[in-house]
This record gives sequence, structure tokens and C-alpha cells, in this order.
Amino acid sequence: YKRIGEVEGKVQAFLTLDEENARAAAKALDEKVIQNKPTSKLYGLPIGIKDNIVTKGLRTTAASKILENFDPIYDATVIQKLKHAETVTIGKLNMDEFAMGSSNENSGFKKTYNPWNLDRVPGGSSGGSAASVAAGEVLFSLGSDTGGSIRQPASFCGVVGMKPTYGLVSRFGLIAFASSLDQIGPITRNVEDNAFLLKAIAGYDEMDSTSANVDIPDYIASMTGDIKGLRIAVPKEYLGEGVNEEVRKSVMDALVILERLGATWEEVSLPHSKYALATYYLLSSSEASANLARFDGVRYGYRSPNAENLLEMYKMTREEGFGEEVKRRIMLGTFALSAGYYDAHYKKAQKVRTLIKQDFEKVFEQYDVIVGPTAPTPAFKLGENTRDPMTMYANDILTIPVNLAGVPAISVPCGFDKGLPLGLQIIGRHFDESTVYKVAHAFE
Ligand code: GLN
Repeated sequence: YKRIGEVEGKVQAFLTLDEENARAAAKALDEKVIQNKPTSKLYGLPIGIKDNIVTKGLRTTAASKILENFDPIYDATVIQKLKHAETVTIGKLNMDEFAMGSSNENSGFKKTYNPWNLDRVPGGSSGGSAASVAAGEVLFSLGSDTGGSIRQPASFCGVVGMKPTYGLVSRFGLIAFASSLDQIGPITRNVEDNAFLLKAIAGYDEMDSTSANVDIPDYIASMTGDIKGLRIAVPKEYLGEGVNEEVRKSVMDALVILERLGATWEEVSLPHSKYALATYYLLSSSEASANLARFDGVRYGYRSPNAENLLEMYKMTREEGFGEEVKRRIMLGTFALSAGYYDAHYKKAQKVRTLIKQDFEKVFEQYDVIVGPTAPTPAFKLGENTRDPMTMYANDILTIPVNLAGVPAISVPCGFDKGLPLGLQIIGRHFDESTVYKVAHAFE
């Protein structure tokens, strides 16, 4: 909290700080030591939580005015697991409203600033999660990633961010954006910390119908530093047009290092990549329009005081409670799901999603990991991409295909462009986080 007091005025990563409860939790943990009870490896470590993960009795807003005063009555599964792992929750972190955005500028409450350069965005939507770790306010944090929201801010803030395989981490208690794409994952300062945290939050959960019943391996054991004979695929679509020269160079430099460590690499093609952005925005907005129907002024949070009848109450609550970007997505999603357009848009996008997934499967028949940049540029300036949603959307072009395919991917720091951090993205096979960590750790 001392460190937070020093830097938070500039970084603005937190929406809610919970010092009183954190101190009480830490004190309770002290008791355990006094009684000599065996403790977890994460014992006593301070963590920050993205504000779309529900925390019992601790305000959870998803950075939306519609949830401004929402105190959840239960803990998300990942929070229960963190309590079991004896971490201490420090507070809730800023984000783009309902995780829709790439810069934190869509937060309903405030902007977060990049600790490396306060004129720049921290990335998004888990911008607070990445900035708080980069600024040393917490040791690690949880974010969520629907189309890049863990990896892109990790890249912009020079920290490590992992989007696990879809189904590895329970989504119970994650405020849903696009349920078929959302995953919770860890943001940390190094790869080893990241693996410890993932191990603590992963695992089957009967409260999430898409949770996978798989064994969670010992990720740390896989970090031998030995990647001899490992086969790396580099998609040509990930180094093409729109990718900044310094970004491209940092990836080529990273490949030299990986080669020196004994891996080999070849260029491959993920031919349907060019459709990923359109597919993602149709599907994620469709799912969002359904998920966000629950915010109607009756069951959760804000209710407009200005309405005179029920229908007006629904309308005014949503009009006043949601921000611009959220409304844009709800409208696009409602349109794509409407009877006359369902086949032409939603169903078509589902089919293209399958083709994108098959692109990955084909490459993984011959290669162990796919490597490329996390984002096409370093952190951009505040306000630089807010006028045109399409330029903002384009920033996620390299992360979105991974969510559509459901595979795991990490972003690790790989250099700088004029003092701004860059991230290397390492993508693995379904449930093969071990190999992703192994490569990231050897490279780091
Ligand atoms: N920036 C992307 C979007 O706005 C991804 C967000 C995310 O991963 N939650 O949808």
C-alpha cells in the first residue's frame, strides 16, 4: 500500500482498494505461520484482480456505471482458489467497460496510464491488471482475455500475460462478455511466477459447464531451459502489412535467440487470418448482446430514477448505464442475431471460426509452437485511436485468432521501441501450456 500510495496518483490502475480487508486477511495468515500450519507457495503474496471478476462483499463494476455500486454475494471460483492458495487481494483493477476495448479508454470511470510513459495507454481491456504489475503496485494480477485483453496490455506494459486454453480456468464469477471466448489468466513480472499463479487458479469446476476435466501438469517442472529440437512456426500473416518495423525486428531477434537455444523455425501460413477480425466482432458482439441483456435495472446495479413505466425503466437504465462502445456492440450483436440476418452473419461467422481453428490444427501437426508479435505496435498515445473504432479493433489482429481457436498463448517482453516495451507471443496446442511456458522461460 505504501508503493501504491507513491505511484497510483500517476498510474490510476485501481478502481477499488481494499486495505482494511487485505490487512485482516494478512493478519489471519500470520496466525497460520505462528501455528506452523503448512502453507501454499503463494502464501501472503499481494494480488490485484480485474474488476470483472466477482469478489464477495468487494465492489465489482466491470468498469461500468450500470454496476457502479454492485457488491457481489459470492466469490468467483478463481477467487476461492486464490484464498485457498493464501494470496491477499489488494483491490480491483481498472479495465475497459465489460472488457470491450484495447486501451482502457472505454472504462466508465477513469483512464489508466502506462507506467513506462504516461502519455501512452496501458493497453486493454486488462490495462489496470498489466499497469499495476508493471508499476510494482502488486506482485501479480488476474486479467481476462476474450480477444487479446491479457496479452496486448502485457505487451504494452512489459510484463508476462498468459491466456490459457479455453476451459482450463473456470469462468464461474467472471462477468461474461463473449462466453465462448472469455478466459481468465495471470499477469506477472516473469514466466515462473505466471506458471505458479496459473497452477493455483486452473482446474475443473462443476459450476462452469465449459470447464475441462483435465489434469493440471507441473508447469515449473517443464521449465528446464532445454528447447533443443523444438519446432517453431512463424505465420507470414503475423509479420505482414500493418506490423511496425521495430516489432518485426524484435520478433526476428527473438527467433535468433530461440535458434541459438536449439530450436528451429520455419515460415507457415494461417490462411484464414484475414477473416479473424470480422469473425470475432460478429461472434463476440452477438454473445455480448445476449449476455448483457441481464442488466435491465431489475436484477443488478443501476436503475434509472427518471422512468415513468416499466418499458421506460428498461430503456433509460440501459441508455444511462452503458457507455458508447458497449452500446455499439449490443446493437451490432442484436443485428447479427436477428431472424433475417442470422444465417448471413452469425452462422457464416461460426463457419469461418471453424476454418480458423483448422488453420491452427494443421500447423500444430508439424510444429510445437507458433511465434509472432503480440501486437502490431507498441503502446499508442491516449486519444490516438479513439476516433475510429476500426483502428482500435485492428490492434487485436494478432491475438484474436487465438481466442477463436481456443488455444493457449503467452506474451513475454522481447525488446523496446523508443523506450516502449514490445511483446513476443508464443502460441501452443490445446492444453499444452507446459510447452508454451517452457519456450517462454527459455527465452526470457
Ligand atoms: N480489444 C478486444 C475487444 O475490444 C478484446 C477485448 C478482450 O479480450 N476482452 O473486444
